[in-house]
Amino acid sequence: MAPLNPFPRIEQVELQALQLDDACALLKHDAKNCQQEAGESATDYLQRIIDDLCDISLKDPLTGLGNRRHFRSILERSIEAVARSGESVLLLMLDIDHFKTINDSHGHLVGDQVLQAIAKCLAGSVRPMDTVARYGGEEFAVILPHCRPLFGRAVAERIRQAVASLSVPVSPLLSVQVTISIGGAYAPEWVRSTADLWIERADLQLYSAKSGGRNRVCLDQPRELAVRAEEKGLLFGRPIMDEAPADLAQRCLRHD
Ligand code: GH3
Ligand code: MG
Ligand code: MG
Repeated sequence: MAPLNPFPRIEQVELQALQLDDACALLKHDAKNCQQEAGESATDYLQRIIDDLCDISLKDPLTGLGNRRHFRSILERSIEAVARSGESVLLLMLDIDHFKTINDSHGHLVGDQVLQAIAKCLAGSVRPMDTVARYGGEEFAVILPHCRPLFGRAVAERIRQAVASLSVPVSPLLSVQVTISIGGAYAPEWVRSTADLWIERADLQLYSAKSGGRNRVCLDQPRELAVRAEEKGLLFGRPIMDEAPADLAQRCLRHD
């Protein structure tokens, strides 16, 4: 029996009856067009509103980066990818050093400008496939898929240096410089871990970077897992080695 669809067919929705005022106010605030365009069908119009709402619900309004919700969803998906394929994914947690003194010395608006400049710098320091998000306050997070442990430190160092060499003009006579501390951890390969545990490991490294003097990178080096290719195939439901699947199945049946 076909599953029951809880949603009415979209053509049956009465556009006038929908209370879209709040949605439209939110979208207008984000400079999105909320009017139904001439010739735009009700279905296309609603789809556009939904797409735009999804878009702003994942964005940090101050910096334009992904917000914490976006970050969590990418992190959870990364955990699945790591468990399925053993891909190396690096998580970096970044925190601006002594940011409170910027606010205290120059005011909150200057603090906001610095946050925006750092966000732009971070986004420009990584590959398009990487995710940069504002984790909260003056903390950011970066998720780097396909980042082999050999290169993790160099990548994190490059990000740290990019911020350290940044000079943020906040008035005609004043530029502000800041540094960041970075803590990083790889997701354990072939293991279905949790987002919280992964963040906690990166956070511990961030704490070390702070207590070690700030403006530095500390990484949790991944442990080598001694899992044979056959075991990985058995654990995660598909053969991930060069051997043909039929040969693998034969060999597993023989228990050798
Ligand atoms: P540390 O090197 O130990 O990280 O010191 P810190 O001063 O950066 O850390 P602390 O947690 O003491 O202060 C963080 C400050 O960040 C305090 C808070 O007012 C400021 N902050 C958080 N969010 C925003 C924001 O959106 N805009 C501005 N301007 N400041 C913010
Ligand atoms: Mg902080
Ligand atoms: Mg800080």
